[in-house]
Amino acid sequence: MAGRTAVITGGSRGIGRAAALSMAEAGAGVAIIYSGNETAAEDTRRAAENFSVPAKAYKCDVSDFNAVKETCDKIVEDFGRADILVNNAGIIRDGLVLRMPEEDFDAVVGVSLKGAFNMIRHLSRTLIKSPCGRIINVSSVSGLVGNPGQANYSAAKAGMIGMTKTVARELAGRGVTCNAIAPGFIKTDMTSDVSGELIDKVVPLKRMGAAEEVAALAVFLASDSAAYITGEVIRIDGGMCI
Ligand code: NAP
Repeated sequence: MAGRTAVITGGSRGIGRAAALSMAEAGAGVAIIYSGNETAAEDTRRAAENFSVPAKAYKCDVSDFNAVKETCDKIVEDFGRADILVNNAGIIRDGLVLRMPEEDFDAVVGVSLKGAFNMIRHLSRTLIKSPCGRIINVSSVSGLVGNPGQANYSAAKAGMIGMTKTVARELAGRGVTCNAIAPGFIKTDMTSDVSGELIDKVVPLKRMGAAEEVAALAVFLASDSAAYITGEVIRIDGGMCI
């Protein structure tokens, strides 16, 4: 991937950090978008730079249409191109639908679903200029099978899958592929309170996944080996949703 540029939302921590470092290790320059944790973003940026690739961090709320436009313009100005977009930024605000505050629904859908739309909307013109344009949307098994307490999150993640298939059809003729990854339980800050007992019960492989395992899948989808895969959803969940 030498010479290519990967844009990773939520690249400061967890799966996004692992994806940024794996893309950098594969030779791509990385643009990391984060929402507020400057220390984590700077740490990831420096770690990516250790792979001798250009790396920059951009503070931007992906749910903000105009802020995303500004940030995408800045990234293209800084790197001169964008080849890979990983829509990974996400938050949870769990609660039963009977009691879920409107703002918790809007916030979760705003970051994951509208955030992915905003990024695709503002970066597609650049991605179609790439000889190897790739969009990778980080969805969730929650978007495939639902999960009590996550009406907002599963709606956002299922929405990302619908959008993945449409964008795959729309941009195929322009040489850009678009795929989704649906992780199960991955060890990050987001899942810090998940118990070992729950994992033993619901995950056939009886462990949480590592962020690096999801990152390896993202790198594969971004690679030339995956050029004929588009509109696909790949579970990475230790068998949870077989
Ligand atoms: P995480 O450790 O909580 O990290 C979330 C990342 O998203 C951080 O980099 C954060 O930036 C960024 N972010 C949050 N809100 C944002 C916003 N409005 N604008 C821009 N960036 C924002 O999460 P994770 O576990 O790595 O999850 C990454 C993705 O995988 C999410 O979409 C999540 O839904 C999905 N996923 C995770 C799991 C899992 O088990 N962990 C399973 C399935 C799917 P700051 O550092 O600045 O806060």
